[in-house]
Amino acid sequence: MKNPPVKRKIKKIERKEFSGIKGLVKPNVLALKAYDAKGAPCRVKLDANESPYPEPLNARFFRSVKTNRYPDPLAEDLRKAFANRMLPAKLRDIGRVLHGNGSDELIYNLICAFGGPVVYPSPTFTMYGKIAQALGEKDIAVPLGTDFEIDDEQVIKTFKKEKAKICFISRPNNPTGNSFSEKKVLNIIENVKGIVVVDEAYQPFSGKRSFLSRLDKYENLAVLMTLSKVGLAALRVGFLIASPELINEVNKTRLPFNVNSFSQAIAVRALEGKGLEEGIKKIVSERDRVFRELRKITGITAYPSDANFILFGAPDGGKEKIYRGTIRDGVLLRNLGSPSDGYLRVTIGTRKENDAFLRAIKKYGPLGGE
Ligand code: PMP
Repeated sequence: MKNPPVKRKIKKIERKEFSGIKGLVKPNVLALKAYDAKGAPCRVKLDANESPYPEPLNARFFRSVKTNRYPDPLAEDLRKAFANRMLPAKLRDIGRVLHGNGSDELIYNLICAFGGPVVYPSPTFTMYGKIAQALGEKDIAVPLGTDFEIDDEQVIKTFKKEKAKICFISRPNNPTGNSFSEKKVLNIIENVKGIVVVDEAYQPFSGKRSFLSRLDKYENLAVLMTLSKVGLAALRVGFLIASPELINEVNKTRLPFNVNSFSQAIAVRALEGKGLEEGIKKIVSERDRVFRELRKITGITAYPSDANFILFGAPDGGKEKIYRGTIRDGVLLRNLGSPSDGYLRVTIGTRKENDAFLRAIKKYGPLGGE
């Protein structure tokens, strides 16, 4: 039986007490746009700086994981395997290592722990700014100088003026691909009263010295690393390496079971094996070949890269033509900035995938037809 009067009454109470979702959301979150990492479905996926070489898996391995138990909250085997494989002997102490659900999560934990303002050079990895905004912290972008070099003096000045707490430096930098001058980064570490995070997500492809070896000298330095670029992006495993004191504080902001059991087990096996290095070598050699080929194409400006991707420019609206054209040929690139910015980024894939990209770019590049 219907009872219309009661129904009307309930509706009225709801309206009075609840003014809509948007009215309740924090203004800093309301102003955000969700990170959209989903590109068009393409046969050749060169948009997300992943490795083309997956870790081989077998069913027996999966049976060794107990799905009824929570993962090891401290990820001890994983942190040990990482420390043994990646850290210099003098720093090989798991008290210096914190595990994250990708290094994204560790950026979140760092800003949670230290607060803002958060400083970063620009353009760079967008999550430094987005996470700061989500946490209600001020974020300040300091433009890169010529040749995409970091403006160390401006970073130091901004830090002082804004009383900033933390600075993120992606080295090599995403999306420009260059490694900022070691001297300039050291200048920042030595002259700011705050934490400097050197994000080495792409360091394995660079041949440049890691900042890990400086950790015992600078207590305000922290290094971020990830397994996502070397064939294990699906696992979501990243690491923060710093002094035990810093790790202790950041660890307080970590959710208890942040890295799942499958990811821990697969990552340990990969860190103990030799497969990662082989993939890295192939990617570096392909990167250099793709760079040489891009440089031969009239109208395309390719920038030297220490990472597993290459940034390139196409003038006068050429960028949209290339981006749409290569998708039609089954090759997905990353389209950066506004249509007028003119930059695209290509991730290095297998030789076959890179050839598909080079064929497409020659066809749709500024001097090619559409
Ligand atoms: N740092 C940089 C510079 C990146 O480019 C990325 C991913 N694109 C990350 C961190 C995050 O990596 P993940 O969360 O997969 O470890």
